[in-house]
Amino acid sequence: QEDQFKKVISHAKEYGYVFQSSEIYDGLSAVYDYAQNGAQLKKNIREYWWKAMVQMHENIVGIDASIFMHPTTWKASGHVDAFNDPLIDNKDSKKRYRADVLIEDYVGKLDTKIEKEVKKAAKRFGDSFDKEQFIATNPRVLGYKEKGDAILKRMGQSLEKEDLADVKALIEELEIACPLSGSKNWTDVKQFNLMFGTKLGASAESAMDLYLRPETAQGIFVNFLNVQKTGRMKIPFGIAQTGKAFRNEIVARQFIFRMREFEQMEMQFFVKPGTQKEWYEQWKETRLKWHLSLGMGEDNYRFHDHEKLAHYADAASDIEFRFPFGFKELEGIHSRTDFDLKSHEEFSGKKLRYFDHEDNESYIPYVVETSIGLDRMFLAVFSNSLEEEALENNTTRTVLKLPAVLAPTKAAVFPLVKKDGLPEIAREIIEDLKWDFDVLYDEKDAVGKRYRRQDAAGTPFCITVDHDTKEDNTVTIRHRDTMEQKRVPISELKSIIAAEVSV
Ligand code: ATP
Repeated sequence: QEDQFKKVISHAKEYGYVFQSSEIYDGLSAVYDYAQNGAQLKKNIREYWWKAMVQMHENIVGIDASIFMHPTTWKASGHVDAFNDPLIDNKDSKKRYRADVLIEDYVGKLDTKIEKEVKKAAKRFGDSFDKEQFIATNPRVLGYKEKGDAILKRMGQSLEKEDLADVKALIEELEIACPLSGSKNWTDVKQFNLMFGTKLGASAESAMDLYLRPETAQGIFVNFLNVQKTGRMKIPFGIAQTGKAFRNEIVARQFIFRMREFEQMEMQFFVKPGTQKEWYEQWKETRLKWHLSLGMGEDNYRFHDHEKLAHYADAASDIEFRFPFGFKELEGIHSRTDFDLKSHEEFSGKKLRYFDHEDNESYIPYVVETSIGLDRMFLAVFSNSLEEEALENNTTRTVLKLPAVLAPTKAAVFPLVKKDGLPEIAREIIEDLKWDFDVLYDEKDAVGKRYRRQDAAGTPFCITVDHDTKEDNTVTIRHRDTMEQKRVPISELKSIIAAEVSV
């Protein structure tokens, strides 16, 4: 698993997807830059999300709010007082950990044991194997599962009660039961606020303390009534946005999984009080379907319903994805009640109510939100697509099987040789296709090598112009995943590519 993750990181660099930020100065921890292919993949994921959420829903509109907001926003939202991570230091290794992440890592060890048992049993039982039933009936596996659940429950309760001594005690117990850090010498658990501060204004006296937004959601809440009125929106309706958020993460590791500067894609859905549970269930289902539509494997997703709820929520669930380092949160679906709007009403002194003409009453709507990290989605797509494929002739090929709709380049066009007018024809094809798709031209090296280069970069189609093209206006089109090659008329290229890469 670790090896696979290392491969993902080095492949992302080698093929121009992700670079460490400020690399020439040895980088900045947990900050990354998207390179030529990465920026394109990221844009395509963002557009795939925007289309599904905004374009396809008559009652959802999109906005683009600022990163800077009035500082009182973060008082009202609870971030100044409650946006904390519990931290613990290991006195021997001098390493700092997020206590909750550390505890989840211990539970992850139990999950790994379960997966091993499941794999063994699946081999033994063959086709008749029923995973759910096996987990529910095998005493050893059930034992691991119950233990994991009990640990998470105790952690949730202790954090909720702010019983930080018990969080420390739990870590100490777990370290003895299944050593992870190899040391027992811990400090107390302390809370640490995650917001980055900055200043607005030139002189020291008049400067105003600001925060870089730690989530995009508040930009939507403060604009709720403006959008509702100017867009003549009727409840239920949603406001979506994508944009940067900043968190001073302490345990910043795992590449772009946990960054200090990252991008969120959020949608806040405003509903009538009392109907939030139904909408919450519906959005869980809708969002899972969105993920499955990319064809990255049903088994790679699972829901994790929260026991420990944030101060604003009455229900919350994560869609977890199987990353190279195990199942982790990819997206959160939260029923946020009327907490935010109510609090902004109080702090701003402005009414944030919706007048319901049908029922002739006004109320503060409840909110169900879907919140996904664009960078995490990028990592999910990228790591899941990278394959080392064994070929029939005992060689292997590295192929990045990105969903075609998300691939940065849709087709590469090659002249078989650099003469006889073939480059000119290839260029003409590019000139024609580039209006609809991202395409590239490549004439360097043997065609086989060029195919491999595009396989590894994730390009779904390669088009080769050869001497026959001059006779009959046909070319070879090769499919990345099947490596199948077909002879087709140039005039059909557009529709063949469109059939695979369109949403
Ligand atoms: P975690 O528990 O992993 O810290 P969270 O529960 O704090 O995440 P939310 O506040 O619910 O996350 O944010 C919504 C989404 O934003 C997450 O599901 C994740 O995809 C993304 N996200 C949050 N923090 C980061 C980060 N530091 N780097 C990249 N993506 C992030």
